Amino acid sequence: MRPITWTTIAAALAVICLSSPVVGEMPKNQQKKYPPKDEIPNLKSPQMKKWMAEIDWSKVPKIPMSKANRPECPECPEDKKKIPKDSCWWTCGGCVAKDDVEKCPKAKSWGLTYDDGPSEDTPRLLKKLKASNATATFFIVGSRVLEYPELLKQQVREGHHLAIHTWSHQGMTSLSNEEVVAELKWAEQIIFDVTGLKTKYWRPPYGDVDNRVREIARQFGYKTVIWTKEWDSNDWQLPEKTITTKQVYRNFKWALSTLPKLKYGPITLEHDLFESDVNVAHALLDMGIAKGLDPMDIARCLSDDRPYQNSPVKKVDPPKKPALPQLPQSPPPQVAAKPVAAVEEEEAKAPPAAAPPKKVEDEVKPAADNGEIDAQGTKKLGAGIRVQWGASAVAVVVATAAFLL
Ligand SMILES: [Zn+2]
Repeated sequence: MRPITWTTIAAALAVICLSSPVVGEMPKNQQKKYPPKDEIPNLKSPQMKKWMAEIDWSKVPKIPMSKANRPECPECPEDKKKIPKDSCWWTCGGCVAKDDVEKCPKAKSWGLTYDDGPSEDTPRLLKKLKASNATATFFIVGSRVLEYPELLKQQVREGHHLAIHTWSHQGMTSLSNEEVVAELKWAEQIIFDVTGLKTKYWRPPYGDVDNRVREIARQFGYKTVIWTKEWDSNDWQLPEKTITTKQVYRNFKWALSTLPKLKYGPITLEHDLFESDVNVAHALLDMGIAKGLDPMDIARCLSDDRPYQNSPVKKVDPPKKPALPQLPQSPPPQVAAKPVAAVEEEEAKAPPAAAPPKKVEDEVKPAADNGEIDAQGTKKLGAGIRVQWGASAVAVVVATAAFLL
């Protein structure tokens, strides 16, 4: 047998390290179940057939696809006549649909959102959010979960809210109906497989959405989230060096200066894909909090207690029965008849026991408002008084008889 040398140990460690997946990466055999990273998924998969059948296509407007140099944002035609009528195309005219989310209803609420992750810089942001006691919505690019599934689990554990930002980050108005379906559903699928959560909110990459894309998302149960005008941090320009960090801070300071006039809370646009984004995210969070903003995820900013499509329906607590009044310890037998009679009178007034079933909304009313419960309580009270006071009367009669004898 050969002696174990340091060389042997080093060689063995090298083999182990090289064959191990990157920490947190999805095992290769599982990755094969999904489309490749940053690519529009294959449209011929069995899943696609099923997802396409879930949509009522007669309700999806027939708006022509926009032109784009994929995956870049489609360009808005200079000739406005070329914009399809009734398209409500956000990136081309800023049209907002009634159910688009672009602000928080309450002033000072801060809809904190980070797009395009997960990435190797996401953990630094999570640390900062934890230290600031803030939760955020992460608009996840589905195909990037292949590398960082563990980060998603950490985000959920730490109270953050997950939403989708499509599979491969394309301008959605430039995609065919099938491609829109694939981009939404594959992102939803991988998040569900990793966390068990079926997402309910989505943000179109570049905010590129029109009524065709909206309707497909809507039928899959999604709410479309854009961001508040003037509250785009423009941090996405940092890696391209088309903006400086100082300019990002200056823009954000200006937005913060408008806060006293705002009757709603802003939803900001930030990213967690690059180191530079995450660096400014730290400073912006401090700046916003210092100005009195309350950072929170989108579900909380909308007071949505079901942040996912498969969130459990909140149980309605059964109405509390009114507490029974304190009964006298040893009521004199001569007054026993009076309360029983009074109670019986109340019984006569009470509605019949077989009252029609209550509606759910009635059940959430405070117990004091619930006539049926009052009546039931009264009945129980009547029976209790009869038993207790009846027993006391017998005891007094027996005691008197014993004394006389
Ligand atoms: Zn994006």
